[in-house]
Amino acid sequence: MKLAIDRERLVSEIQALGQISEVEPPVVTRVVFTEADLRARAWVIARCKESKLSVRTDAVGNTFVRWAGSAPSAPAVGTGSHLDAIPNAGKYDGVVGVLGGLEAIRALKAAGFQPKRSIELLIFTSEEPTRFGVGCLGSRMLSGTLTTESAAKLRDSSSNSLDEVRQKAGFEGPLSSVKLAAGHYHAFVELHIEQGPILEREGISVGIVERIAAPASESIFLEGLGGHAGGVLMPDRKDALCAASELILEVERAARSTGAIDTVATVGICDVFPGAVNSIPSKVRLSLDVRDTDLVRRDGVMNEIFLASKRIAEKRSVSIRTEILNADAPAECAPKVIGALVESCRKHKLTYLPMVSRAYHDSLFVSRIAPTAMLFIPCFQGYSHRPDEYAAPEDIEKGVLVLAETLAKLAS
Ligand SMILES: [Zn+2]
Repeated sequence: MKLAIDRERLVSEIQALGQISEVEPPVVTRVVFTEADLRARAWVIARCKESKLSVRTDAVGNTFVRWAGSAPSAPAVGTGSHLDAIPNAGKYDGVVGVLGGLEAIRALKAAGFQPKRSIELLIFTSEEPTRFGVGCLGSRMLSGTLTTESAAKLRDSSSNSLDEVRQKAGFEGPLSSVKLAAGHYHAFVELHIEQGPILEREGISVGIVERIAAPASESIFLEGLGGHAGGVLMPDRKDALCAASELILEVERAARSTGAIDTVATVGICDVFPGAVNSIPSKVRLSLDVRDTDLVRRDGVMNEIFLASKRIAEKRSVSIRTEILNADAPAECAPKVIGALVESCRKHKLTYLPMVSRAYHDSLFVSRIAPTAMLFIPCFQGYSHRPDEYAAPEDIEKGVLVLAETLAKLAS
């Protein structure tokens, strides 16, 4: 089999899809079930149909693009990623895995390859948490990690339920039908930009992800006493922002205390009420994001932060309440899929690096129901979730070549 990736076509498709945005390109904003998201889906589906692939969409909009194998009832080999983008994002996050997956299938067809197992390109709904506050919505539901009952309770910031919004977008059928049957996939592999600087810095063609870190996130609400910045004397204060400041430093200390490079913790949001120069902060909302490749260690950090919040609340006479948004387990990637990726790199004489994914992806949830691994390609300076996100055509081509070879191995 002589595999050839049509780099020009793929890059022009990535550029064309980057024009479909809620805001002025090159800035990409495509929040799930907005007009831009639906237009992007329709555009990609049209490309898939041009390649004579069959398309099925489930009740939450996850889209399955299938190239039937000679044993169509055998568990399929899956690949794919997402098309939604956070506000003010770039062209490559998710898209490289969707259009790259399509290009891999087209290259295999052009090379005359005939798969035994069906090969399926999967476009996940709402990998980004922007609209409903929970990331990887589609893959959580496919894998049964998010129950139908919990999904039905999700609402966006305008109080529209997931159920209403997805039906308005044209996705019908009961949400309970989204969960995939056991054994649907024989293997799954997701191609993605690294979103970090390592591959580019080391000059390595691809990263083979062996573990995906476990993310947990919480909202933390602090409440003290407000008052006039001149009138209330220091001994009488219950300043919620001062308490939040102590807690933020405890978050940093807890993450550092494990001594493990894989433990990371971040407070990315600090909303202060009432937010006036001459008013003592009475309420603060913090976001907390903790990740680790080791679940016990991550939960240890979460617990330390919780204990610190108790101490700070008592010392400063403020109330601190935490609300867990998600606390997911990490994933070990499947040796079978990692092995196929390694063999493919060797065959095409491409350098590869075993990696940990510290960002989480739909693959984290697919790994609950299928042997899964991920393939990373370098991206400029590790930039992601910003308009100047960039992956070089030659790097994309190498990634798609390895993906195509790997899909062929797994589907034979
Ligand atoms: Zn992504």
